[in-house]
Amino acid sequence: GATIGILGGGQLGRMLSVAASRLGLRTHVFEPGAEPPAGHVAHAVTTAPYEDAEALRAFAASVDVITYEFENIPTEALDVLQELRPIRPGREALRVSQDRLTEKTFLTDLGLRTAPFADITDAASLRQALEVIGAPAILKTRRFGYDGKGQARIERPEDADEALAEMQGAPAILEGFVSFSHEVSVIAARGPDGAVSCYDPGENVHREGILRTTTVPARLSTAQRTDAALLAGKILNALDYVGVMGVELFVTPEGLLVNEIAPRVHNSGHWTQNGCTIDQFEQHIRAVAGWSLGDGSRYADVQMENLIGDDLDRVPELACERDTALHLYGKAAVKPGRKMGHVNRIVRG
Ligand code: ATP
Ligand code: MG
Ligand code: MG
Repeated sequence: GATIGILGGGQLGRMLSVAASRLGLRTHVFEPGAEPPAGHVAHAVTTAPYEDAEALRAFAASVDVITYEFENIPTEALDVLQELRPIRPGREALRVSQDRLTEKTFLTDLGLRTAPFADITDAASLRQALEVIGAPAILKTRRFGYDGKGQARIERPEDADEALAEMQGAPAILEGFVSFSHEVSVIAARGPDGAVSCYDPGENVHREGILRTTTVPARLSTAQRTDAALLAGKILNALDYVGVMGVELFVTPEGLLVNEIAPRVHNSGHWTQNGCTIDQFEQHIRAVAGWSLGDGSRYADVQMENLIGDDLDRVPELACERDTALHLYGKAAVKPGRKMGHVNRIVRG
């Protein structure tokens, strides 16, 4: 069988490795950090920084295809890797999604709707943008933000200076505050033959910027479901995408707005592990390995709950709950705000 190279050894890399293993494939994880959660399940692990071109070349030479669990892989490392092996999803998906400004521009150029946004370089451009977009608004760093990090709310124009200081000089984007009724996401897959398959949208609840729960089915009309699948397919086709993508959406009375896209398996797709025959991890591995996509239809109602920080203390009780599947990441240390695992609860009608 083939060997899949995975950049990143966190929980997503771990669950991708498990899925690959089940298909008789091997995985080789590249991860700069010590004790990566994927280390326990991957067939091979390389521990080296992304600046180590020699380690990257040896890693690439040992695999058939390269994929990744996070989008912030340095461009220089990708340049080295792509000389040796195909990278799936491709470079364009990474280029677009590494920067919120590039991403929102790409989405609006496709005719999709997002929050109003503006490029912020200094206090003057922020003042100007606030006049156009209005408050409340959110200032976000263009790059490297996750779990709500690198974001500052601007309730009134007077908050502008303080918010800008929080960016610590990093390039930023101002987004108008969307008054959504709820948030949903589509986990969409595209195969090497261009076939697209979307999982049923999940409804997401965040607390302190971190995803807490995803519930399927989401509260959406049939027309909204169609819209969600159509816009996801449009994004995947435009990027000639191969693999699984997470598309986060705001539901508003005026329709669906795209919040952000993630060119990888996504936390809000973890419910598929216990709600579908083929989960998002297997679907991603299939696409990346050049297989046909599998059946992603949903056979159960599910609620996924993230176990964050001290939530891990609840594992003994959770382990006794009926219709509850535990997924723990084997992380070395518990930290506040750190994702330690999740549970999928089957909801019986
Ligand atoms: P992730 O961990 O999903 O990558 P992130 O750090 O990239 O998160 P966003 O998805 O941009 O952050 O924002 C986190 C959450 O903050 C959103 O899911 C939403 O609840 C809220 N939010 C972000 N942008 C806006 C906006 N323009 N209007 C209203 N709410 C917003
Ligand atoms: Mg994000
Ligand atoms: Mg998000």
